[in-house]
Amino acid sequence: MALTLSERVLAISPSVTLAIDAQAKKLRQEGMDVIGFGAGEPDFCTPEYINDAGKFAIDAGITRYTPVAGTLDLRERICEKLHRDNGVEYTPAEVMVSNGAKQVLFTALSTLLNPGDEVLIPTPGWLSYTEMVKMAGGVPVTVHGDEESDFVVTADMLRPHVTEKTKALILNTPSNPNGCVYSYDQLKDIADLAVELGFYIVSDEIYEKLIYDDCKHYCIASYGEEIKKQAIVVNGVSKSYAMTGWRIGYAAGPKEIIQAMTSFQSHASSNANSIAQYAAATALSCGDKYIKSMITEYDVRRKLMHRLLNEIDGLSARLPKGAFYIMMNITAILGKKYRGQMINNSTQFAEILLREKRVAVVPALAFGDDRYVRLSYATSRANIVEGMRRIAAFVDELEEY
Ligand code: PMP
Ligand code: GLU
Repeated sequence: MALTLSERVLAISPSVTLAIDAQAKKLRQEGMDVIGFGAGEPDFCTPEYINDAGKFAIDAGITRYTPVAGTLDLRERICEKLHRDNGVEYTPAEVMVSNGAKQVLFTALSTLLNPGDEVLIPTPGWLSYTEMVKMAGGVPVTVHGDEESDFVVTADMLRPHVTEKTKALILNTPSNPNGCVYSYDQLKDIADLAVELGFYIVSDEIYEKLIYDDCKHYCIASYGEEIKKQAIVVNGVSKSYAMTGWRIGYAAGPKEIIQAMTSFQSHASSNANSIAQYAAATALSCGDKYIKSMITEYDVRRKLMHRLLNEIDGLSARLPKGAFYIMMNITAILGKKYRGQMINNSTQFAEILLREKRVAVVPALAFGDDRYVRLSYATSRANIVEGMRRIAAFVDELEEY
């Protein structure tokens, strides 16, 4: 037998967002002054009352295996949250907790997909979706949204891509990387399409709380009993409660799917961390006061970054409605040079910008559209001002080819 890696693993690319974050952190450790607009991670600390719950859990000996699907207490809190915030009813048997929303998504796709099954992915979309679909044996089918329509991919745009092999759609509202938020009617049309043509919806709602102006978040499973049977709602505490390192995400869906996912997880990883589960239950049951103050700050940063960016000749962006990312359109500067180095695509833009100006951004090629780079505004106002100043200087120093 040849000493080779699996075709499945050879077909995937490593996470660019995590790689850029690691690179920025390494440069910082080496003493360089790097502004990080790269990985999307709240820069706030986990609220003290949640940390206290974690400490309590350790002292109280909540340090053993829990049920694979998560503690009953946490699953009950999740059901309360889904009822309270999303108007949708689930029982604890219809909920599973994992190590972050990422593992939830992978488990859901592994549970749903047979080899060759197609999964629709609105694009630009989060880079892990395509790779997870491939890891689970499926085939990603990207459906492109336009900047002019805030990158929303409507039911009419999805319909021509549905084939006999279409097993699921991965919906992400608010969206990473493009910040779009689907309206009530847009989601209703998508729910109707899924019911009419018969495919699942894996609805990633991890940025649910990070939403601005008069936008409202709607949960696809709340559109009626029929779509609820075809929906797996994915959410978690990483973004809303600044708990990225605690690794708690969850899925809610039809009991037989959740049972199958739990069976998969029982072999893959067992339960999520018991201490983090306890802290997450506290997070979910103590109201949204902390989240509101965080959103107020993100909103200021969103507008600040958007304004400074659009003041730069050759760059532009729409004001995102949710999450904490801006898609910066770099089309006008492609084909220019920086000190002799060609910028022909988003990867070259990001590499040269990091090397020359010490600003970390994510090339949107990773999200399926090479005409953009993604900036995260989950960083201080001072960093945004300084980072945008450096980007402006960078663009100013570009030469025509
Ligand atoms: N979905 C999206 C759209 C994300 O951006 C992320 C980023 N972390 C995740 C899921 C995964 O979240 P978690 O940290 O809970 O695994
Ligand atoms: N989801 C965040 C991002 O897109 C964190 C990194 C990751 O998990 O991909 O930057």
